[in-house]
Formats: sequence, C-alpha cells, structure tokens
Amino acid sequence: MGRKFFVGGNWKMNGNKAGIDGIIAFLKAGPIDPNVDVVVGCPAIYLDYARQQCPDNVQVAAQNAYKVPSGAFTGEISPAMIADIGLQWVILGHSERRAIFGESDELVAEKTKHALDAGLKVIACIGETLAEREAGQTEAVVFRQTAAIAAKITDWTNVVLAYEPVWAIGTGKTASPQQAQEVHAKLREWLKEKVSPEVSDSLRIIYGGSVTAGNAKELGQEGDIDGFLVGGASLKPDFIQIINAKQ
Ligand code: PGA
Repeated sequence: MGRKFFVGGNWKMNGNKAGIDGIIAFLKAGPIDPNVDVVVGCPAIYLDYARQQCPDNVQVAAQNAYKVPSGAFTGEISPAMIADIGLQWVILGHSERRAIFGESDELVAEKTKHALDAGLKVIACIGETLAEREAGQTEAVVFRQTAAIAAKITDWTNVVLAYEPVWAIGTGKTASPQQAQEVHAKLREWLKEKVSPEVSDSLRIIYGGSVTAGNAKELGQEGDIDGFLVGGASLKPDFIQIINAKQ
C-alpha cells in the first residue's frame, strides 16, 4: 500500500504574526519524522508570511479557495493566487465552511475540481454531525459527500480525504480509534466499488477531530488511518508529537 503518513494542521482563524512566529519556531525545532508529509493551514492574509518562514519539510496550505481563477467575487481567493505565491495545498469543504458559510456538497466538489485543475493539492473534508450519527446516517453522509467529489474528478493523486466527524471537532470528544477506523474502512470499500481499487488503495484518508498528543499514537495505529487533520493542537508544540505519532 505504502501510503505516506500525512499530518495537517488547521490554524483556522487564529493567531497573528507573533503567534505564527511561535508556531514556526517549534516546527523548525522539530524534530519532524521524514516519513511524514506535514502541511499547515494558515489564514489567507498570512499565507505568504508563513510560506517565507516555514522550514522546507513543512508545506503551507490555504484554508479555502473559490471555484474560478479570478473575477467579481469580493473577499474570495483563487487557487491560481495560492499557486502564484508558491503554495501547493488548499483545505476544502471543512465542516465550518459547510455549516457556517453554507457550502454545499456540490460547491465543495466544484472547488475541489477547480483547485486540482489549477495544479493544487487538496485536503478535502467530510464528516457527519452528531444528529446524523445518532440517526445511523454516518455512512450515508460521508458517502454522499465523497460521491459529490467523485462525480467531478477522476484523478485522485493530489487529494487527501479528511474524515472529520463534526461532533469531534473542537469538542474534546475524539472518535475512538475503532470508530474512526470503521468509517475509514467503509470509505475505502466505497472507493473501491465506486471509483477504483487503485484509488481505494492509494488515497490517504486522515482523521480529524480533537486529535491530541495523547490520542494520536493509538489512532495512528489503525490500518486505514493515514494521518490527521489537527485544529487546536496544531497551534501548540504538542503538534510535533502528533506529527511523530508513528515513531
Ligand atoms: P480540532 O479541529 O482538532 O480542534 O478538533 C480539527 C479540525 O477542525 O480540523
């Protein structure tokens, strides 16, 4: 299989220049396992600042981008702009974008397609709410969200799929390793059937939702968990331990 472990940080709308300096200082100090891809999602206004300072073994990602290269879309940024400042990654479809800013499955899929076409790599986020889980809808929801993307793209090489149950994000309620593994395995089955066995084998499916230095090792041992997307804990030096969870 040989899926390289992937740890993303998602700073969300946090920090300022001084805070970013602090994060970059601990990223530089590391040590960072060379067998892990590390990508940190930075607020748009600081993308270039972070890019200039991040060590070579840490990539900087935008947290969002729109579905066209340019135009009358006040407040938005495009994949072309992200690439223009020398960055390769964007996070799309985060549950906060979906829930607070009303992004539909369709829009997330369109954005994913456009970002890939523009040469970016995409961390595409999916996940069910607590009500959906309690109603037994987890699989239906994550399959629907993934299907919307699968309907628009054929090449998954530059995609990392982030399973982030909404009830676990920022709540301190992590999915248990078994709960996360179960969904990841189901997603891999779905991909095998609906996309291809190759994509099912090679696509990195990472887990997000209250990942900490305390639970990362256990989560990372599950066969279908290929890394993490980390919010709160990516702002703190503990992030290094999460990156190195497989060691
Ligand atoms: P959290 O956020 O680690 O703070 O729960 C995860 C995310 O939203 O990506």
